[in-house]
This record gives sequence, structure tokens and C-alpha cells, in this order.
Amino acid sequence: MLYHLHDVLRKTIRLKCPDCGEGSLYSRWNQLHERCAVCSCTLQRREEEGWFFIYMTTAGLTGVVVVVMLLIDVPDIFLGQIGVLVAWFVIILLTLPIRKAIAIGIDYYIEQRPRKNAGT
Ligand SMILES: [Zn+2]
Repeated sequence: MLYHLHDVLRKTIRLKCPDCGEGSLYSRWNQLHERCAVCSCTLQRREEEGWFFIYMTTAGLTGVVVVVMLLIDVPDIFLGQIGVLVAWFVIILLTLPIRKAIAIGIDYYIEQRPRKNAGT
């Protein structure tokens, strides 16, 4: 069965399997199951395919932190620098499982689509 991208992403954003939407993606924080416990969809090998999305979203979030840093006027520059560093670290870490789940969903969606030139 072919799913639309928004259906796949709706499942993975909830940290569920992109195929069945029932099995969980992670066994621990940021540790993917090798396969879905419900439908056996491969999960862990998709992690390698999502590196570009992870890097690009990290760069994007870093850009947001830099823009916010430039807009906030802090009385103490050193404390401001520490605050930006902590905020960036927390944002990047907290969003990592969701960003990785989205990358897995995109990989699943691309892989399930029929190839136009298949067999030629
Ligand atoms: Zn599944």
C-alpha cells in the first residue's frame, strides 16, 4: 500500500512506525528499534539515509538561535553567550528524535514510491 507523505509524517512525528503507525520507533531516547515490533518494517537502517535532513535542520535551528541572539539585548555579554550556547544545545538535543523520525518518514516515503524507470 502506498501512503501519502503527510500520512507517513503524521505517523513518524508521533514517533511511530512509518508503515503501520503502531510500533514505536525508539527503544530508548534516540535509539531506534532495528525493526518495527508490529509489522517488521526496517527502521534502524533508515537512520543512515536521514543524515542530510538532520544536518540541514541542525543548520536551520542554529540560524534561528543566531537570529534570536541578535534580536535580544542582554546586559551581560558573557551571560548572553552562555545562554545562547545552552539554548542551542537544548534545542538541538530535544528536537533530535523528532527530526530523525521525520527523516525516517521521508526515507520510507521515497522508498515506497514506484520507480519510473524500474526494469529498463
Ligand atoms: Zn510497523
